Amino acid sequence: MSHEGIRFVSKDEEARASQENRPLPREAITPQKVRVLISEGKGLEIDWADGHRSVWSFPWLREACPCATCVEQRNLEDRKPGQPKPKPAALLPMYAPPARPASAHAVGRYAIQLNWQDGHSAGIYSWEYLRRICQCSECTLAATDVAGIPN
Ligand SMILES: [Zn+2]
Ligand SMILES: [Zn+2]
Repeated sequence: MSHEGIRFVSKDEEARASQENRPLPREAITPQKVRVLISEGKGLEIDWADGHRSVWSFPWLREACPCATCVEQRNLEDRKPGQPKPKPAALLPMYAPPARPASAHAVGRYAIQLNWQDGHSAGIYSWEYLRRICQCSECTLAATDVAGIPN
């Protein structure tokens, strides 16, 4: 007679509940070094005070714009931050240059504003938001577990 197989709380469920709203430690949302590689057209790099390092490409960040309009649009289309719009298959492919900011500047001590070349500049990327959308393999793996959708 065995009483094995009794499980109390699934680890997955626990992780799912805590991941989204878990407050991040101060060092995790304090940038030590911020590099905006505009002339190279590369992207944004941040070294955090806790030793973590995040890198995003500009096109990815453009699709992750945190302004109300872009968030609403992504929700309507069921896209996650950074996920590009689906391209209509019927249209002839048109060349669009990859998104790139014309300029960037700090907003107080908590965020960076990217003024995109397409004229959109409403997005203020807070350090906390950026840390939460970190694209390193460690963080995306954790996010994939939570969402259950592979990238
Ligand atoms: Zn926006
Ligand atoms: Zn990361």
